[in-house]
Amino acid sequence: MPTFVVKTFGCQFNELYSASVTEMLERAGYEQSRTLDRVSLVVINTCAVREKAQEKAFSFLGEAATAVDASRIVFMGCSATLDQERAKRIAGHEVHIIPGSAGIEEVLARVQAIAACAPAEPMVPHSLFPTADIELVRGCESYCTYCIVPRARGRETAVDAEVVLRQAKDSIQHGFRELLLLGQNINRYHWSGGGLIELLSALDRLDGEFWFWFLSPHPAYFQRAEVQRLMQLEHVEHHVHLPLQSGSDGILKRMNRRYSMADYDALAGAVRSDSRWTLTTDIIVGFPGETDEDFEATVAAVRRHQFDGVFLAKYSDRPGTPASAMPDKVPQKTIDERHSVLLQVVRDLSLQSNAAMIGGSVDVLVLTAGASGDTFGKSRDGRNVWFEDQGRLSHPVGSFVRVDINHGSREGLYGICST
Ligand code: SF4
Repeated sequence: MPTFVVKTFGCQFNELYSASVTEMLERAGYEQSRTLDRVSLVVINTCAVREKAQEKAFSFLGEAATAVDASRIVFMGCSATLDQERAKRIAGHEVHIIPGSAGIEEVLARVQAIAACAPAEPMVPHSLFPTADIELVRGCESYCTYCIVPRARGRETAVDAEVVLRQAKDSIQHGFRELLLLGQNINRYHWSGGGLIELLSALDRLDGEFWFWFLSPHPAYFQRAEVQRLMQLEHVEHHVHLPLQSGSDGILKRMNRRYSMADYDALAGAVRSDSRWTLTTDIIVGFPGETDEDFEATVAAVRRHQFDGVFLAKYSDRPGTPASAMPDKVPQKTIDERHSVLLQVVRDLSLQSNAAMIGGSVDVLVLTAGASGDTFGKSRDGRNVWFEDQGRLSHPVGSFVRVDINHGSREGLYGICST
């Protein structure tokens, strides 16, 4: 039986595409292998957003090239757009390059041809049960000055609403309980019926027991009234991830983020008007030109919004981005110091947010069922929840349960299932 390895780096998009490739190969009779030893096909799905992820992908490519012939290797994703010459130098000219701008149909068709497998039936692409990942917007044209995605993924295109709704319906009918809608800047979604909020409203009307969530909204393209409409929907998860990036208007301008702190505050305020909802964000520390005052403004914004979770990144140059050519770089030592100051603030806030849940109970979607009776899931407001089944009741992956919370840490909640 032919075998394959799929190695994935980076974002949820890559997870989705890799899951689709895996599913197609398995349906074609390929078996997934844990090692590169005598493998028939290697697929490497790459990320160029962070240098570390990029270097890991090239290092894995080197490993794969010593184990199999280059003609059996597929190198796809962002680094495949930006650095295909390097890929060829490492693996040889026979390596198959699929650029990050290729949509899922093209990726599947190319891999199918390389693997010489029979044409696959159209399918519902999804990642890990019980979550079905559904693509809404491909590419990005927002041109944040630190980001390589517009160059790597190409022009923005919206997936047809009919396709999205059909995939959502099929996923629910196949037992998926969470729909995760994806777009690099998902607020740019548009269709004949309107924009993102209209599509989410249509999706909310589908029959079945399910939750949905979406990544990533962009504050510049999100209206306060839309946030309020979103919060009225029946199946939506109760959390918004709203990337702030910096609390300084000057730095936001240099980042080309196209919103001010006042704009952001208005959106965040709408989310915060309902205490059942959580708010999380992304912050970049040490963007070129960031002064002590700019950094203090970011710390103040993080404290003011009491974020339930923050993905904190240290600024690093991505070659080819406008920010990488900006002159006034922040010294690495200062970036490290600012990062550790903010990290402490963020950790305290996460702990505070989760500790406040002790004594209450939350709805949880079961994501993994532990052998020892410990089960892991996600609360409707997006927190990690570990719980024991009282009386060792069995709650399979994909079921919704109620959990009484008796402990909270920075990482999440702990409790006992009461259903
Ligand atoms: S919105 Fe900005 S950060 Fe997000 S993918 Fe587009 S350019 Fe990059």
